[in-house]
Amino acid sequence: MSGLLNGQNVIVMGIANERSIGWGIAKSLHAQGARLIFTYRKERSYEKLAKLLAESGIDPLLTVQCDVSDDASIEAAFGRIGAEAGVVHGVVHSLAFADKDELGGEYVDTSREGYLLAQESSAFSLVAVAKAAKPLMTAGGSIVTQTYLGAERVMRNYNVMGVAKAALEASVRYLAEDLGKYGIRVNAVSAGPIRTLAAKGVSGFNDIMNTVEEKAPLRRNVDQSEVGDATMFLISGLSRGITGEVLHVDAGFHIIA
Ligand code: NDP
Repeated sequence: MSGLLNGQNVIVMGIANERSIGWGIAKSLHAQGARLIFTYRKERSYEKLAKLLAESGIDPLLTVQCDVSDDASIEAAFGRIGAEAGVVHGVVHSLAFADKDELGGEYVDTSREGYLLAQESSAFSLVAVAKAAKPLMTAGGSIVTQTYLGAERVMRNYNVMGVAKAALEASVRYLAEDLGKYGIRVNAVSAGPIRTLAAKGVSGFNDIMNTVEEKAPLRRNVDQSEVGDATMFLISGLSRGITGEVLHVDAGFHIIA
């Protein structure tokens, strides 16, 4: 099979089930010939992933557990990836976490623990992953994370996660500067709302989707395959001149006042 990513080893982090944005990304990367390495946190996610891979005929190079809130887990996961895959060309960071109780009501009521948990899982995790991946990305490459408009604007109920995404997007810029000299690019995709397990935690999610359908220039929501293809573009050499960027894949919703 010939593709844009033939012979490239790409890590995909954050698939919980068939609705996960990470799964849409994995399918787009696979279609371009990438050799895929998967990380998961919960055993339940591993079971779902293994089933999805078997059903889709995708043969992973490696599947390894990685809890991004735990330095030892990151070290063990990337140690195994280095030992078994050698060079890594791409990393997809498609994960975030916040306590459901913090994703509703007023941001002013955010707890210290809730704030730190969201920041650590959703923003610092990209920094930790970039640090662990850097020594394996000896041929240069591309790191792509997933963000949301709530980083730039106040979106009702997104609260603590919006602030974590703002830190994530700023981290994309600082990491892009640090890693650019090694030929490693760092970018984010800012997807419109997509019904996933993580999205279930945000109060009023249906209203957000309805607003996009009504107001976005394309008058519809986006899906995992569209985010998957845009992420694949940022992983591939087609985007070789792009780093530190946040690419909106949201049917144009972000341009509307
Ligand atoms: P999913 O629930 O499908 O995926 C979230 C993933 O995050 C899960 O695989 C989960 O693993 C993983 N995760 C959470 N905490 C940790 C951790 N400490 N260590 C390792 N993995 C962890 O939701 P999405 O696909 O929606 O989310 C993917 C990304 O896309 C997130 O960054 C999200 O904020 C972003 N995004 C989502 C949008 C949407 O509307 N859905 C819109 C814009 C951005 P496990 O279940 O095994 O714990």
